[in-house]
Amino acid sequence: MRIGVLALQGNFREHAAMLRRLGADVVEVRKREQLEGLDGLVVPGGESTTFMRLMRLYGLDEAVRSFGGPVFGTCAGMIVLDRGHLGVMDLDVDRNAYGRQVASFEADLHLAGDEEPLRGVFIRAPRVRDRGADVEVVAELDGEPVLLRQGRFLVASFHPELTEDTRVHELFLEQVGEATSVRA
Ligand code: GLN
Repeated sequence: MRIGVLALQGNFREHAAMLRRLGADVVEVRKREQLEGLDGLVVPGGESTTFMRLMRLYGLDEAVRSFGGPVFGTCAGMIVLDRGHLGVMDLDVDRNAYGRQVASFEADLHLAGDEEPLRGVFIRAPRVRDRGADVEVVAELDGEPVLLRQGRFLVASFHPELTEDTRVHELFLEQVGEATSVRA
């Protein structure tokens, strides 16, 4: 599987390393042409304002909007995909909703259909304010959705690329596998 990781800013190296560990062929995407032929795309965490600015500068905003494959956004990557930014997901997300840098924290999450807790690393994390009916909750923290899926989109308000636990990336690759088999 050929997976692109937007490499404009933020945690792209960690995502790339984790995807390679899981056997994916990873492309660091800095130009719109590099989206061609990808089976999936990761929009990493970082800083959403900077992210949007750089995406516009390189024409990647339009290119990501028209990318038809599965997309996985983490933290700032989730903000970028919401109604108020690229508008590809039926979500409204509040930035820095858990407070400032000092409010960054880790917590055990319950992943739907899995007994083993998932360690979530939250760094100035966004919070989902509103979501459409077809957005499915995959994991919650204190009753709040922190991992969500809408069709070909998967978003996390935390940073699964910063732990050794590969389950969220595996989930994304499963989504990519399903989409690829539908196309084939
Ligand atoms: N607070 C950042 C933002 O608003 C997101 C933080 C992150 O990606 N770790 O874009």
